[in-house]
Amino acid sequence: MISPLLPTYNRADIAFARGEGPYLFDEKGERYLDFGSGIAVSALGHAHPHLVAALQDQAAKLWHTSNLYRISGQEKLARRLVDASFADTVFFANSGAEAVECAIKMARRYHYVTGAPERYRLITFDGAFHGRTLATIAAGGSAKYLEGFGPKVDGFDPVPFGDFDAVVRATNPQTAGILIEPIQGEVGVRVAPPGFLKRLREFCDARGLLLVFDEVQTGIARLGRLFAYEDVGVVPDIMAIGKGMGGGFPLGACLASERAAKGMTVATHGSTYGGNPLAMAAGNAVLDIVLAPGFLDHVRTIAGSMQQHLSMLQAEHPQIIAELRGRGLLLGLKLHVPGAAFMARLRDSRFLAVGATENVARLLPPLNIEENHVREAMAALNEACASFETERKAV
Ligand code: PLP
Repeated sequence: MISPLLPTYNRADIAFARGEGPYLFDEKGERYLDFGSGIAVSALGHAHPHLVAALQDQAAKLWHTSNLYRISGQEKLARRLVDASFADTVFFANSGAEAVECAIKMARRYHYVTGAPERYRLITFDGAFHGRTLATIAAGGSAKYLEGFGPKVDGFDPVPFGDFDAVVRATNPQTAGILIEPIQGEVGVRVAPPGFLKRLREFCDARGLLLVFDEVQTGIARLGRLFAYEDVGVVPDIMAIGKGMGGGFPLGACLASERAAKGMTVATHGSTYGGNPLAMAAGNAVLDIVLAPGFLDHVRTIAGSMQQHLSMLQAEHPQIIAELRGRGLLLGLKLHVPGAAFMARLRDSRFLAVGATENVARLLPPLNIEENHVREAMAALNEACASFETERKAV
């Protein structure tokens, strides 16, 4: 009999019933340490008391009004994001893909209203992931996600990640800008090579192009600064965010400078739900914590500790772990053993990580984990590595 769920996911056979901090509890009460955070979403862990209180309070007052009216939570969250970033203006969406869609439309529209409507193409990068809408799968360019969905949305010119000369060669009179993740998460935590983003910025300035960052995975403190662009010292014109910004509530946003947003006038874009009062309560509650003094310092400290422990783990198990990748708390272990089997073994030890292509296990823990959680994670990872080693010896 066909499942009532469209079978587009290959799910692990576990159903979680509740969460508390970095732990999830399944329906039988088994506790798991969650270093996947629902793919970098639950940035403050599960059932954080401040987020719960903010949502409960808002839920009892007002859920939804639509963007036909002013929404004070939107005005507050937009002001805080603007004050904390390069941006002058914010559009609220419901997901990362929607935030990227807005960014793509904005880049095209900028050139349209500045007298160059022919400039609609974006340079993109092999291995990118920007979401699953028709435009964002075209921007991502992965054959696996495009197959069977008809003509690819036009306007994306992929080049190898990190290859500046290829960017120059791909630029033509129709180019509107460059769309890039500062760290490619889904393909296996690939960090942009040193100086690459800076060169892109200079190139964009020289050619009148817009630099668009997809910070859906890297944004909201995952790398120890509010946004990854601060870490690399390169300011984009447009930036899409999502995931961690709602702490688990579906929320995305497109941030931009006033200049880049110039074309987005009344009725050019919209969303029924985008920025509704419930989502804004969640987003503001996340920022209350993330912007509190000391929080980003904590992320950097705990990330440093994680990285140190992982380096030692790799040194101890070179036959299992080929490479440690990433920055902050967006980390990847490139494996010599099959990633799916490694992940399954971690689950057996009641530890959750997230897979990525290039045979990488991603570690994306909540940002507020403590040293004891890092130690617990290392024990699980060590056990998984040791079990593969034992098997190899037995062969
Ligand atoms: N962009 C990046 C860099 C992502 O990692 C993701 C999701 O993994 C998306 C966009 C799409 O976000 P969503 O799944 O919320 O639509």
